[in-house]
Amino acid sequence: MRPLAIIALALILARVFAEIWLNRLNQHHVRAHANEVPRAFRGIIDDGTYRRSVDYTLAKSCFGNIVNLFDAALLILVLFSGVLPWSFGRFSASFGTSIWAMAGFLFVTGIALSIPALPFAWYAQFKLEERFGFNTTTMKTWIFDRIEGFLLGALLGYPLLALVLKLIAWTGANWWLWAAAVVVAFQLLMLLIAPAIIMPLFNKFTPLLEGALQERLFALARRADFPTRSIEVMDGSKRSRHSNAFFTGFGRFRKIVLFDTLIAQLTEPELESVLAHEIGHYKKRHVIKMLSVSIAGVVTAFAAIAWLARQQWFYRAFGFEHQQGFAAANVVPAILLFALLAGTITFWISPVIRGWSRRFEYEADAFARVTMGEARSLIQALYELSEKNLSNLTPHPLYSAFYYSHPTLLERERALQIGA
Ligand SMILES: [Zn+2]
Repeated sequence: MRPLAIIALALILARVFAEIWLNRLNQHHVRAHANEVPRAFRGIIDDGTYRRSVDYTLAKSCFGNIVNLFDAALLILVLFSGVLPWSFGRFSASFGTSIWAMAGFLFVTGIALSIPALPFAWYAQFKLEERFGFNTTTMKTWIFDRIEGFLLGALLGYPLLALVLKLIAWTGANWWLWAAAVVVAFQLLMLLIAPAIIMPLFNKFTPLLEGALQERLFALARRADFPTRSIEVMDGSKRSRHSNAFFTGFGRFRKIVLFDTLIAQLTEPELESVLAHEIGHYKKRHVIKMLSVSIAGVVTAFAAIAWLARQQWFYRAFGFEHQQGFAAANVVPAILLFALLAGTITFWISPVIRGWSRRFEYEADAFARVTMGEARSLIQALYELSEKNLSNLTPHPLYSAFYYSHPTLLERERALQIGA
C-alpha cells in the first residue's frame, strides 16, 4: 500500500471510530438519565412518553452504529479492492472517453454505490420508524420516491455532470472556476424552481384554508414586515408523523410551508410563533449566509479536484493511470475519489457548521420572541414538538455539537427566557 492509501484508510477508520464513540457517549448519557424524567421536564412530559423517547433514541443510535460501520466497510472495499480503476477501464473501453460517456461513468458509479444503502433506508422507514408509530409511508410511495429521485438525477444531474466535464476541454487550466460557477448557478436555479416544480412531484401543497388561523398568520407576516402571498400546507403525513415547517425560495418565489402534521399538533398561538421563527430566518439573512457558505464549499471542492487531478501520486495510490492534460478522462478519477473521500475530512468540521446553524436558530427564536411580544408560545410549541417527535431530551453535549443543527430544547428555552 502506498503512503497516501494508508492515510486515506486512517482517515476512514478515524471517522468511523469517532462516530461510534460519539454514539456510545450519547447512549451512556441517555441511559444515565433513563430511570426518571429529568427535573426540568417533570410535570410537562409524562413517564410513558419519556420512556418512549429514550427507547427511540437508543434504537436509532444502535441502528446508526450499524450504518456507520457498513458505510466505512463499503468505502474501504470500493477504494482498495481495485474495483474503481477496473470499472473505469472497462467503461472507457466499451463506451469511449467522450464527455457523455465520462459523465455516464460518474452517474452510473454514483447509482451503483447508493444501491447497498437501500436496505438500510427501507429498514429505517418500515421497521424503526414503524415501531415508534411514526411511519405512514406505503411501500408504493417509498418505491415511487426512489424511482422519481433516480429520474430527476438522470434528467438534471447527468447533463450537469456532462457540462462540467465539457468545461475542462473548453476552458483549460481555469476549468474549476468555471465549473464552480456553473454548479452554483445550477444551485440557485434549483432554489428558484424546486418549490414550484420539483417539490410538488413528491408532495401535495395546498394554500392554508381561509379562517382564523390563516388571518392570524397573515397578520403576523405583515407585522414582521414579511409580505407573503402564500402560506402553504404540505401533506407531510403522507410519509411520516414527524412534523416540521420550513421556508424555501427567495424574492418573489419565497414561500412558507407548514406540514399538515404540525398544524394538527400545535395550537394557533404556537403555530404563529413557529411561523415567526421561520420568518426570523429570512429577516436575519440566514438563507443568504448559508448560500455563501455553500458557494465557498463548491469553489473549494473544485479547486481541490483540479489540484488532485494534476497529482500523479494521488492517482497511483488508488490504482488509476495518470495523464496530464485538460481532458474529461484525466479528471474523472479525481472527481470520483474526491467525492468518496471528502466526507472523511468534512466530518471534523461539522461542529463548526452545526455551530453556525445553531446560532441561526437562536437568532430566529429571538426574532420570534420580539415579534410575538412574548416567548411562552414558542416555548410551548418547542415542548409540544419535542414530545410528539420523541426527541432526545438529554443528548451528550459533544454528540449534539457534532450532529445537532438545532440547540436542545432546554438550551432554547433558557435563551428565550433570558431574552424575555
Ligand atoms: Zn429554525
